[in-house]
Amino acid sequence: MLIGNVKINWLGHSSFKITNKKVIYIDPYNVPPEEKADIILITHSHSDHCSVEDIKGIVRDGTIILIPPDCQSKLSDIQGIDVHLVKPGKKIGALGTIIEAVPAYNINKNFHEKANEWIGYIINIDGKRIYHAGDTDFIPEMKKLKEIDVALLPVGGKYTMDAAEAAKAANAIKPKVAVPMHYGSIVGSKEDAKKFKKLCNVEVEIMEH
Ligand code: ZN
Ligand code: ZN
Repeated sequence: MLIGNVKINWLGHSSFKITNKKVIYIDPYNVPPEEKADIILITHSHSDHCSVEDIKGIVRDGTIILIPPDCQSKLSDIQGIDVHLVKPGKKIGALGTIIEAVPAYNINKNFHEKANEWIGYIINIDGKRIYHAGDTDFIPEMKKLKEIDVALLPVGGKYTMDAAEAAKAANAIKPKVAVPMHYGSIVGSKEDAKKFKKLCNVEVEIMEH
């Protein structure tokens, strides 16, 4: 998907590559190590989001990595990276982008407790705002998100919102485009993505990878 000058590739599950002047990966998981990362954003410490093998495959000397504090020990044997600890509410400027960490948690299940302070991200890049929700339910904080161009939302259920809940979230956030994620590998199927699209009042793009 191309939004303005920003290219967004879905790499499966919750994993995306965002390319503008720099290369940004979010939650790299089972990604081909073809292109090195300038910035890596990790939403939480679950192994399908903070995948050490994947991170090792795409880092170069000086890669900036944003992580919640409990991911830190996992990355301790990777040399030369520039690690920043983030929690909900924090904003970080990195290589011409402003990256905001926002809350991500469950409200009707217990896989992602609010107290963990795990996160989603809003990436402000080349005039666009891209929201990656992380592993979350439809939480009240989403209603306050402003001027989102692209919302990447989990739809697979069990650990996160299901398709119907995610559609409610999309309809509240009102992004220009909503993209379903967190289905097709560990949990959820393309049917969830299709159901999500049907229930949304906003434009939805089901991406391929
Ligand atoms: Zn998780
Ligand atoms: Zn997950």
